[in-house]
Amino acid sequence: MTKKNRKYIGMLGGGQLGLLFLQQAKRNNKMVLVYDPDKLCPAAKEADKYIEAEYDDMKSLDIIANECYVCSTEFENISYKTLEYLEKSINVFPSSKILKITQNRKLEKDFLKRNNIPVTDFLIISNHDDIKDLNSTDMYPAILKTTGLGYDGKGQISVNNNQQLTSAFTELKSVECILEKKVNLDKEVSIIAGCYQDGHIEFLPISENKHLNNILYMSKVPASLDEVSTQEILGIAKKIIKNLNYVGVIGIEFFISSDKKILVNEIAPRTHNSGHFSIEGCDISQFQQQVNVLSDSEPTKSKLLEPSVMINLLGDVWEQGMPNFEIIKEYNCANLHLYGKKTPRKKRKMGHITVTNKSLETAVNLAEEIYEKIQKKVK
Ligand code: ADP
Ligand code: MG
Repeated sequence: MTKKNRKYIGMLGGGQLGLLFLQQAKRNNKMVLVYDPDKLCPAAKEADKYIEAEYDDMKSLDIIANECYVCSTEFENISYKTLEYLEKSINVFPSSKILKITQNRKLEKDFLKRNNIPVTDFLIISNHDDIKDLNSTDMYPAILKTTGLGYDGKGQISVNNNQQLTSAFTELKSVECILEKKVNLDKEVSIIAGCYQDGHIEFLPISENKHLNNILYMSKVPASLDEVSTQEILGIAKKIIKNLNYVGVIGIEFFISSDKKILVNEIAPRTHNSGHFSIEGCDISQFQQQVNVLSDSEPTKSKLLEPSVMINLLGDVWEQGMPNFEIIKEYNCANLHLYGKKTPRKKRKMGHITVTNKSLETAVNLAEEIYEKIQKKVK
């Protein structure tokens, strides 16, 4: 097939990040091919073309190689080898090299340390002998995290001593882990950028994130940060993007400790949950940035239109029955996004709400009010 017949942007993964990307791409008249082994995934139904296949199925990957002019991924837990295979035929953003680093907590931390970027104190735990040899007096309290395949707090266990560490390591099937010292947090923030093929970087406004049980609960924008911290975060983000030769959309999570140190928590090689506010809160959302980067369009700035608050709707919200989404219609400033997932399992991201207002404080109050109200049973 000649190049001009390649009509799709390929997206590996059809979860909510794939769906929200697809919805933006459609508004831009771009065609998207979604590839996901689960035909019930959120993005399958709305895709211009959908392929149900495993990520190592070369024959099916060849459809992307032949029919897409560019390809991206919406989550990091696919083998970087899938991207490596596609790179032989088409542009893949971010590249397999970047995915390989950012999908593994050890390689990611090694990269950050090599570049003199501050991270949490950590140790690698590869086997039970590493625990025996551990001189751990100043490591606890800590979190044991698998180096691969973790997301939304999965593959993480809090530990306070070597005994708990031993059972946690066994519970995580003795796979390679990092033991991360718990940071006394002042706040968590994140920054998202569209990193263009010509080297341009367009940052979205920094968001301030509140987690519950290690899963994102709320993002507030603008983050309450002084100018010095803002510049430091921007500087670190630029360094990461430059030194990874990053092309695509990137999300970088930061910890700010109670003694005001700025540490990088982790790098997401994709759009980020904390950037969902930008769909309504910015003129150019993170998904519009992604469409622009992948289609090699002119770099465009993302401007905050109004202070914004996003709250995630996890499956837990369905616990008392179907939430009362009708209530949202009473609020002009509120927007509901549901991802079309069938089973509202606990901790599963089912959707989100975004509230924009000229006052951030009002936006927070309204978002929490709506969040409470939708969980009340309809009378
Ligand atoms: P995930 O890939 O699940 O997002 P993270 O490593 O970002 O994993 O952890 C999720 C959340 O758990 C963080 O955003 C933070 O709230 C909390 N957390 C993780 N590691 C630490 C740490 N070392 N100190 C304090 N809080 C942490
Ligand atoms: Mg995280």
